[in-house]
Amino acid sequence: MERESLLATLIVLLGGLALQLFAAWPGRIGTHSAARQRERVLWLALWWPGALALTVAAWLCGWALSQPDPVPKHVGGLLFVAVVPFVAVGVRAVFRAAWSLCRSTRDCGIATVGLLWPRIVVAPELEKILDERAIHAALAHERAHLRHRDPMRIWLAQFVTDLQWPRSSAQRRFTDWLVSLEEARDDEARANGVEGADLAAAVLGSVRFQLGFRAASANLIGETAGLPGRIARLLRPIPAAALEQEPHYLMVAGGVAMAWLVAAVLGLSWGERIIDALLALSS
Ligand SMILES: [Zn+2]
Repeated sequence: MERESLLATLIVLLGGLALQLFAAWPGRIGTHSAARQRERVLWLALWWPGALALTVAAWLCGWALSQPDPVPKHVGGLLFVAVVPFVAVGVRAVFRAAWSLCRSTRDCGIATVGLLWPRIVVAPELEKILDERAIHAALAHERAHLRHRDPMRIWLAQFVTDLQWPRSSAQRRFTDWLVSLEEARDDEARANGVEGADLAAAVLGSVRFQLGFRAASANLIGETAGLPGRIARLLRPIPAAALEQEPHYLMVAGGVAMAWLVAAVLGLSWGERIIDALLALSS
């Protein structure tokens, strides 16, 4: 069989299997009291199962480097049957990602939309419901989403979560992150002079525009699961700036890149015996 085709099949099979296994990690991290830090830690937590699955893919790439092309081994039909569920999960994730881009953003009420060039949109009906202070508060919240390019981050997070479907732990990580994201943007708006009560009024006024299906946008309401806690939070004094340490993204990225390199070397050196056993099993 052609080496690259076999490699791609094995990556989907073993990478998909690894993703489903690593998705079981609960990922609940409650050590950070400040929303900004919590959001960043939970953002990283979303990506751990994917990073570990890519470590398996790196190991397979290392194995492929040690193989001639075409690979002179018999590949059984069972391998192609086993890969079907993972292909289906991937196709579903791609479809949902594409669909979320096609959704109309009109019903979002007030939202930040656009992956590459985010902008804030406000439904005309909402302007009739909210008073000027609430609109000002909502716009400050959306400007915080805009600064952090949150529509793109939400879209990517939804995609990596969908790749772990149907694991409920992955969905819970995504929901936890979305709740923290909204609280972090609320805090940012309040740090810029917005009253929590005005923002709470804007959120409650926007609830009627809540969508059943998530569009690729960062709207004002955010995750409904976190709404009661969020409103209560907005009505309390703004939390003091926390001195808690934030994750160092560059250090984490360096560590992950190193793990991928080590995995590729291990695949190059010792991958053949394991893959031979797998191919024998599928025959
Ligand atoms: Zn928001």
